Formats: sequence, structure tokens, C-alpha cells
Amino acid sequence: MVELSLREAVFGVTRQLTLHTLVACATCDGHGARAGTTATSCPECQGTGELRRVRQSILGQVVTAVPCRRCAGMGEVISSPCPDCRGDGRVTEERTFTVDVPAGVDHGSTLRLSGRGPAGPRAGPAGDLYVHLSVQPDERFVRSGDDLHAELHVSMVQAALGASPTFETLDGTETLAITPETQTGHVIRLRGRGVPHVRGRGRGDLVIQVVVDTPTKLTKAQDELLRRFAAESGEDVGPPDEGLMARLRSAFG
Ligand SMILES: [Zn+2]
Ligand SMILES: [Zn+2]
Repeated sequence: MVELSLREAVFGVTRQLTLHTLVACATCDGHGARAGTTATSCPECQGTGELRRVRQSILGQVVTAVPCRRCAGMGEVISSPCPDCRGDGRVTEERTFTVDVPAGVDHGSTLRLSGRGPAGPRAGPAGDLYVHLSVQPDERFVRSGDDLHAELHVSMVQAALGASPTFETLDGTETLAITPETQTGHVIRLRGRGVPHVRGRGRGDLVIQVVVDTPTKLTKAQDELLRRFAAESGEDVGPPDEGLMARLRSAFG
């Protein structure tokens, strides 16, 4: 299991992974026999690794083959096993692997490192190493397929009058265009600023949803300006004291 940040999942990363795994025993070179001895053909199965059982049934003779228990299907037995691996040909050791995580991988996906898994018994071929990937949740970006979703908070005044706020994408700072009269929920789509397609070319999009913030902690001057604004547009607003009282309540409540 390799834990990745969203940035590492998007751009790829090289990681060292250290784990305990079965490797060929150095003492017997993976063959399982004590030095100076060799494995001999299994007398039980004559080296075939399987036993044939003949059964009589109403349909005639039925021949079944089962793995030989004496040699565990290997066809040979070790009369004098290697003391270090007890005849298995493998020992558990700590190994460090270099894992190249490609750009665009997702949480829960698996990388297969061909031939870098545990050694096979008695000098058999090594298996594959499967590395499970976990991508930690990001504070700012939520992934959906190969698109990334984020929020951009702008003030009520910026939304009404327009602004050019900056936004930190995974590729760097971008200047966004907030047009006048922008509403909450407005979507700005930055093409190709999402997650690379792990198969094939190109990247997903960065989808930024605008959230218009209600102004808080108004100064006296701002309070007066907004009351003039309300009067200008004929809006009914709370009495002047109420805002002050609410602030006092939250400060002491
Ligand atoms: Zn050994
Ligand atoms: Zn056998």
C-alpha cells in the first residue's frame, strides 16, 4: 500500500517501498537442498508430482489425478534440506522496491510490478508485486473522474461589480475573470487543468464553482453604505441595532 497526496496522484511520483518478502535462499541458491546434496525424484509419484487414482463406477473406470502429498506436487523430495530455508528454497527478507507511480492514478487502483513479487518455491519463478494506491483527500480539490472540482469564494461586491481574483491550481497561479453580476453556482471551467488520463493523452478539467460570500463583521461605515444601498433599491432590511445586538450575542453567548 502506497499513500499519495492528490498532487502526487495527478503528476505521478517515484516512491521507495520497503517490505518483507520471500526471496531465494542464498545458502542453497533457492534449490532447498543442503550443500553437497541434491533433490531426488519422489518415490511416491515417480517424479510426476501427481498420483492417479482409478475408481470403478457404473460408467466404467474413472481416473483422477491428485497432487502428490509427499512432494507437494513438485516431483522431487529433499532428503537433506537446507538448514536456512528448511528445504523451501526461500527466506523472508526486507527488500526495497522503486515504484514509479504514473500520472493520473486514482484512489483504490493497483499497480502490478511484474516479476518483482515473492520468489517461487525451490528456485521457481517469482510472482508479481501488487501495489495498492491510496490517495488522501485534498482540502481544496475533489476528484470526479479526471475532473477536479473546487470552490472560489468571492465577496458580494466582487460578484456584483466583477473582479479578477487569482486562484492556485495544481499547475500554478491563474487569474480568473469574474464578470459583473456573477451569482453563486457560476462555473468556471479551466480545460486541461484536471487529472491526466492514465490511459491516453490529455487531462481532465478543473471545474471551479463560484460561491458569493455575505459580508460579515461590518464596520459602521460599511453598515451605513449597505443601508444606503438597500434604500436605493427599495429593500426592506432589519433595524440598525439588530446587527449590533447579534454581534454582541455571538461575542458573549
Ligand atoms: Zn536454503
Ligand atoms: Zn511425489
